[in-house]
Amino acid sequence: RPLLEVTDLVKHYAVRGGVLRRQVGTVHAVDGVSFSLGAGETLGLVGESGCGKSTVARTVLRLVEPTSGAIKLDGEDIAPLSKTALRPYRRSMQIVFQDPFASLNPRMTAGDIVGEPLIVHGLATGAKKQERVAELFQQVGLRPDQMKNFPHQFSGGQRQRICIARALSLGPRLIVCDEPVSALDVSIQAQVINLLIDLQRQQNFSYLFIAHDLAVVAHISHRVAVMYLGRIVEIADKHELFANP
Ligand code: ADP
Ligand code: ADP
Repeated sequence: RPLLEVTDLVKHYAVRGGVLRRQVGTVHAVDGVSFSLGAGETLGLVGESGCGKSTVARTVLRLVEPTSGAIKLDGEDIAPLSKTALRPYRRSMQIVFQDPFASLNPRMTAGDIVGEPLIVHGLATGAKKQERVAELFQQVGLRPDQMKNFPHQFSGGQRQRICIARALSLGPRLIVCDEPVSALDVSIQAQVINLLIDLQRQQNFSYLFIAHDLAVVAHISHRVAVMYLGRIVEIADKHELFANP
Protein backbone atom coordinates (compact mmCIF):
# COMPACT_ATOMS: atom_id res chain seq x y z
CA ARG A 1 0.00 0.00 0.00
CA PRO A 2 1.43 3.45 -0.91
CA LEU A 3 2.03 6.06 1.79
CA LEU A 4 0.00 8.64 -0.13
CA GLU A 5 -2.71 7.98 -2.69
CA VAL A 6 -4.42 10.97 -4.29
CA THR A 7 -7.48 10.26 -6.45
CA ASP A 8 -9.37 12.70 -8.71
CA LEU A 9 -8.28 15.72 -6.72
CA VAL A 10 -10.08 18.92 -7.74
CA LYS A 11 -9.57 22.46 -6.47
CA HIS A 12 -11.58 25.34 -7.87
CA TYR A 13 -10.96 28.84 -6.53
CA ALA A 14 -13.75 31.37 -6.57
CA VAL A 15 -12.68 34.58 -8.27
CA ARG A 16 -14.31 37.66 -6.74
CA GLY A 17 -14.55 41.09 -8.32
CA GLY A 18 -16.23 44.44 -8.22
CA VAL A 19 -16.93 46.57 -5.16
CA LEU A 20 -19.36 43.97 -3.78
CA ARG A 21 -16.75 41.19 -4.10
CA ARG A 22 -19.27 38.98 -5.87
CA GLN A 23 -18.06 35.78 -7.43
CA VAL A 24 -17.34 36.57 -11.08
CA GLY A 25 -15.70 33.31 -12.08
CA THR A 26 -13.87 30.15 -11.10
CA VAL A 27 -10.22 29.15 -11.50
CA HIS A 28 -9.88 25.42 -12.15
CA ALA A 29 -6.46 25.30 -10.45
CA VAL A 30 -6.44 21.49 -10.06
CA ASP A 31 -8.77 19.53 -12.29
CA GLY A 32 -8.70 15.81 -11.55
CA VAL A 33 -5.23 14.84 -10.36
CA SER A 34 -4.36 11.27 -9.31
CA PHE A 35 -1.02 9.85 -8.20
CA SER A 36 0.50 7.66 -5.53
CA LEU A 37 3.70 7.95 -3.55
CA GLY A 38 5.48 5.08 -1.82
CA ALA A 39 7.31 5.21 1.51
CA GLY A 40 10.83 6.55 0.99
CA GLU A 41 10.02 7.63 -2.55
CA THR A 42 10.34 11.06 -4.18
CA LEU A 43 7.79 12.21 -6.75
CA GLY A 44 8.84 15.32 -8.66
CA LEU A 45 6.08 17.70 -9.78
CA VAL A 46 6.97 19.94 -12.72
CA GLY A 47 5.13 22.28 -15.07
CA GLU A 48 4.94 25.92 -16.04
CA SER A 49 4.00 28.61 -13.53
CA GLY A 50 0.28 28.58 -12.73
CA CYS A 51 -0.35 24.96 -13.78
CA GLY A 52 -1.43 24.00 -10.22
CA LYS A 53 1.65 22.48 -8.56
CA SER A 54 1.49 24.51 -5.35
CA THR A 55 -2.24 23.98 -5.11
CA VAL A 56 -1.77 20.19 -5.33
CA ALA A 57 0.94 20.34 -2.65
CA ARG A 58 -1.06 22.55 -0.31
CA THR A 59 -4.27 20.61 -0.78
CA VAL A 60 -2.55 17.31 0.02
CA LEU A 61 -1.50 18.87 3.35
CA ARG A 62 -5.00 20.33 3.81
CA LEU A 63 -3.53 23.85 3.98
CA VAL A 64 -5.97 24.46 1.13
CA GLU A 65 -9.43 22.82 1.22
CA PRO A 66 -10.04 20.42 -1.68
CA THR A 67 -13.17 20.93 -3.79
CA SER A 68 -13.43 17.14 -4.23
CA GLY A 69 -11.30 14.01 -4.39
CA ALA A 70 -9.61 11.60 -2.01
CA ILE A 71 -6.28 12.08 -0.20
CA LYS A 72 -5.36 8.77 1.40
CA LEU A 73 -2.52 8.71 3.90
CA ASP A 74 -1.74 5.10 4.86
CA GLY A 75 -5.15 4.16 3.46
CA GLU A 76 -7.08 6.73 5.50
CA ASP A 77 -8.89 9.44 3.48
CA ILE A 78 -7.99 12.73 5.15
CA ALA A 79 -9.90 14.93 2.66
CA PRO A 80 -13.21 14.91 4.59
CA LEU A 81 -11.70 15.12 8.10
CA SER A 82 -12.42 18.09 10.38
CA LYS A 83 -9.52 20.24 11.58
CA THR A 84 -9.61 18.42 14.93
CA ALA A 85 -9.69 14.95 13.40
CA LEU A 86 -6.83 16.02 11.11
CA ARG A 87 -4.48 16.89 13.96
CA PRO A 88 -2.75 13.53 14.39
CA TYR A 89 -2.12 13.40 10.61
CA ARG A 90 -0.64 16.92 10.59
CA ARG A 91 2.35 15.62 12.53
CA SER A 92 3.34 13.23 9.79
CA MET A 93 3.15 15.75 6.91
CA GLN A 94 5.44 18.78 6.74
CA ILE A 95 6.25 21.46 4.17
CA VAL A 96 9.40 23.34 3.17
CA PHE A 97 8.69 26.55 1.23
CA GLN A 98 10.64 28.44 -1.41
CA ASP A 99 11.59 31.47 0.69
CA PRO A 100 13.10 30.36 4.01
CA PHE A 101 13.22 33.92 5.37
CA ALA A 102 9.49 34.46 4.88
CA SER A 103 8.60 31.31 6.83
CA LEU A 104 10.84 32.03 9.85
CA ASN A 105 9.71 34.26 12.72
CA PRO A 106 12.42 36.99 12.91
CA ARG A 107 11.91 37.38 16.69
CA MET A 108 12.48 33.72 17.56
CA THR A 109 15.87 32.07 17.91
CA ALA A 110 16.65 29.29 15.48
CA GLY A 111 16.53 26.80 18.34
CA ASP A 112 13.06 27.94 19.40
CA ILE A 113 11.83 27.79 15.79
CA VAL A 114 13.03 24.21 15.35
CA GLY A 115 11.73 23.18 18.79
CA GLU A 116 8.30 24.83 18.44
CA PRO A 117 6.53 21.80 16.86
CA LEU A 118 7.76 19.64 19.78
CA ILE A 119 6.08 22.01 22.21
CA VAL A 120 2.89 22.46 20.17
CA HIS A 121 2.45 18.69 20.00
CA GLY A 122 3.47 18.21 23.64
CA LEU A 123 6.38 15.90 22.81
CA ALA A 124 9.30 17.50 24.65
CA THR A 125 10.11 20.48 26.86
CA GLY A 126 13.13 21.84 28.73
CA ALA A 127 16.41 19.94 28.51
CA LYS A 128 14.85 17.09 26.55
CA LYS A 129 13.67 19.53 23.88
CA GLN A 130 17.09 21.26 23.74
CA GLU A 131 18.76 17.90 23.26
CA ARG A 132 16.43 16.96 20.39
CA VAL A 133 16.90 20.39 18.75
CA ALA A 134 20.70 20.08 18.99
CA GLU A 135 20.44 16.68 17.32
CA LEU A 136 18.27 18.16 14.53
CA PHE A 137 20.79 20.98 14.02
CA GLN A 138 23.54 18.42 13.56
CA GLN A 139 21.42 16.39 11.12
CA VAL A 140 21.02 19.39 8.82
CA GLY A 141 24.65 20.54 9.06
CA LEU A 142 24.23 23.39 11.54
CA ARG A 143 26.19 23.71 14.80
CA PRO A 144 24.27 23.40 18.09
CA ASP A 145 25.84 26.69 19.29
CA GLN A 146 23.89 28.41 16.48
CA MET A 147 20.61 27.59 18.27
CA LYS A 148 20.72 30.93 20.09
CA ASN A 149 21.04 32.97 16.89
CA PHE A 150 18.19 34.72 15.06
CA PRO A 151 17.18 34.08 11.42
CA HIS A 152 18.91 37.22 10.07
CA GLN A 153 22.23 35.93 11.41
CA PHE A 154 22.17 32.98 8.99
CA SER A 155 22.86 32.79 5.26
CA GLY A 156 20.08 31.84 2.83
CA GLY A 157 21.22 28.23 2.64
CA GLN A 158 21.49 28.00 6.43
CA ARG A 159 17.99 29.44 6.81
CA GLN A 160 16.65 26.72 4.54
CA ARG A 161 18.48 24.20 6.77
CA ILE A 162 16.57 25.63 9.76
CA CYS A 163 13.28 25.10 7.88
CA ILE A 164 14.33 21.53 7.05
CA ALA A 165 15.22 20.84 10.70
CA ARG A 166 11.81 22.14 11.78
CA ALA A 167 10.13 19.90 9.17
CA LEU A 168 12.07 16.89 10.54
CA SER A 169 11.35 17.60 14.19
CA LEU A 170 8.25 15.43 14.51
CA GLY A 171 9.58 12.50 12.48
CA PRO A 172 7.41 13.05 9.37
CA ARG A 173 6.34 10.40 6.84
CA LEU A 174 5.94 12.97 4.05
CA ILE A 175 7.73 16.25 3.36
CA VAL A 176 6.36 18.51 0.65
CA CYS A 177 9.07 20.70 -0.86
CA ASP A 178 7.67 23.68 -2.81
CA GLU A 179 10.60 25.07 -4.84
CA PRO A 180 12.95 24.64 -1.84
CA VAL A 181 16.14 25.80 -3.59
CA SER A 182 14.80 28.30 -6.14
CA ALA A 183 15.53 31.29 -3.90
CA LEU A 184 19.08 30.16 -3.10
CA ASP A 185 22.38 30.96 -4.85
CA VAL A 186 23.10 28.38 -7.52
CA SER A 187 26.30 27.42 -5.66
CA ILE A 188 24.25 26.52 -2.57
CA GLN A 189 21.43 24.66 -4.36
CA ALA A 190 23.32 21.39 -4.82
CA GLN A 191 24.35 21.34 -1.14
CA VAL A 192 20.76 21.64 0.02
CA ILE A 193 19.51 19.05 -2.51
CA ASN A 194 22.22 16.61 -1.41
CA LEU A 195 21.26 17.20 2.23
CA LEU A 196 17.61 16.43 1.38
CA ILE A 197 18.68 13.22 -0.37
CA ASP A 198 20.92 12.13 2.54
CA LEU A 199 18.19 12.79 5.11
CA GLN A 200 15.72 10.67 3.15
CA ARG A 201 18.23 7.79 2.95
CA GLN A 202 18.66 7.91 6.73
CA GLN A 203 15.03 8.44 7.74
CA ASN A 204 13.01 6.91 4.86
CA PHE A 205 10.25 9.53 4.57
CA SER A 206 8.74 10.49 1.20
CA TYR A 207 9.04 13.75 -0.75
CA LEU A 208 6.55 15.46 -2.99
CA PHE A 209 9.02 17.75 -4.67
CA ILE A 210 8.05 20.80 -6.74
CA ALA A 211 10.68 22.58 -8.82
CA HIS A 212 10.86 24.31 -12.19
CA ASP A 213 14.51 23.34 -12.70
CA LEU A 214 14.45 19.97 -14.49
CA ALA A 215 18.06 19.19 -13.54
CA VAL A 216 17.19 19.56 -9.85
CA VAL A 217 14.03 17.46 -10.25
CA ALA A 218 15.86 14.76 -12.19
CA HIS A 219 18.56 14.61 -9.51
CA ILE A 220 16.33 14.12 -6.47
CA SER A 221 13.22 12.36 -7.87
CA HIS A 222 12.51 8.71 -8.50
CA ARG A 223 9.39 9.44 -10.56
CA VAL A 224 8.25 12.67 -12.16
CA ALA A 225 4.73 13.99 -12.85
CA VAL A 226 4.30 16.68 -15.48
CA MET A 227 1.37 19.06 -14.92
CA TYR A 228 -0.37 21.22 -17.49
CA LEU A 229 -3.50 23.34 -16.89
CA GLY A 230 -4.45 21.62 -13.64
CA ARG A 231 -3.88 18.05 -14.79
CA ILE A 232 -1.07 15.52 -14.76
CA VAL A 233 -0.35 14.92 -18.44
CA GLU A 234 2.53 12.50 -17.95
CA ILE A 235 3.87 10.51 -15.02
CA ALA A 236 6.84 8.19 -15.33
CA ASP A 237 10.08 6.91 -13.92
CA LYS A 238 12.60 9.73 -14.31
CA HIS A 239 14.94 7.63 -16.46
CA GLU A 240 12.07 7.06 -18.90
CA LEU A 241 11.00 10.68 -18.88
CA PHE A 242 14.41 12.26 -19.33
CA ALA A 243 15.89 9.62 -21.66
CA ASN A 244 16.84 10.89 -25.11
CA PRO A 245 14.45 9.51 -27.76
P1 ADP B 1 1.92 26.72 -9.68
O1 ADP B 1 2.33 26.29 -8.33
O2 ADP B 1 2.06 25.62 -10.71
O3 ADP B 1 2.58 27.99 -10.13
P2 ADP B 1 -0.60 27.42 -8.43
O4 ADP B 1 -1.10 26.18 -7.81
O5 ADP B 1 0.10 28.44 -7.58
O6 ADP B 1 0.34 27.01 -9.66
O7 ADP B 1 -1.79 28.14 -9.17
C1 ADP B 1 -2.69 27.46 -10.06
C2 ADP B 1 -3.77 28.42 -10.50
O8 ADP B 1 -4.60 28.74 -9.42
C3 ADP B 1 -3.23 29.75 -11.03
O9 ADP B 1 -4.08 30.18 -12.08
C4 ADP B 1 -3.32 30.65 -9.83
O10 ADP B 1 -3.44 32.00 -10.20
C5 ADP B 1 -4.60 30.14 -9.18
N1 ADP B 1 -4.62 30.35 -7.70
C6 ADP B 1 -3.71 29.89 -6.82
N2 ADP B 1 -4.05 30.24 -5.57
C7 ADP B 1 -5.22 30.95 -5.69
C8 ADP B 1 -6.09 31.57 -4.75
N3 ADP B 1 -5.83 31.56 -3.42
N4 ADP B 1 -7.19 32.20 -5.22
C9 ADP B 1 -7.46 32.20 -6.53
N5 ADP B 1 -6.69 31.63 -7.48
C10 ADP B 1 -5.59 31.01 -7.06
P1 ADP C 1 4.18 30.26 -6.16
O1 ADP C 1 5.33 31.17 -6.44
O2 ADP C 1 4.43 29.27 -5.08
O3 ADP C 1 3.58 29.62 -7.42
P2 ADP C 1 2.27 32.37 -6.26
O4 ADP C 1 3.19 33.54 -6.40
O5 ADP C 1 1.54 31.84 -7.46
O6 ADP C 1 3.04 31.18 -5.54
O7 ADP C 1 1.18 32.66 -5.16
C1 ADP C 1 1.53 33.16 -3.87
C2 ADP C 1 0.29 33.11 -3.00
O8 ADP C 1 -0.79 33.80 -3.60
C3 ADP C 1 -0.20 31.69 -2.76
O9 ADP C 1 -0.67 31.58 -1.43
C4 ADP C 1 -1.33 31.51 -3.75
O10 ADP C 1 -2.29 30.58 -3.25
C5 ADP C 1 -1.88 32.91 -3.83
N1 ADP C 1 -2.40 33.21 -5.18
C6 ADP C 1 -1.85 32.86 -6.35
N2 ADP C 1 -2.60 33.24 -7.38
C7 ADP C 1 -3.67 33.89 -6.84
C8 ADP C 1 -4.82 34.53 -7.37
N3 ADP C 1 -5.07 34.58 -8.68
N4 ADP C 1 -5.71 35.08 -6.51
C9 ADP C 1 -5.48 35.02 -5.20
N5 ADP C 1 -4.42 34.43 -4.62
C10 ADP C 1 -3.52 33.87 -5.44
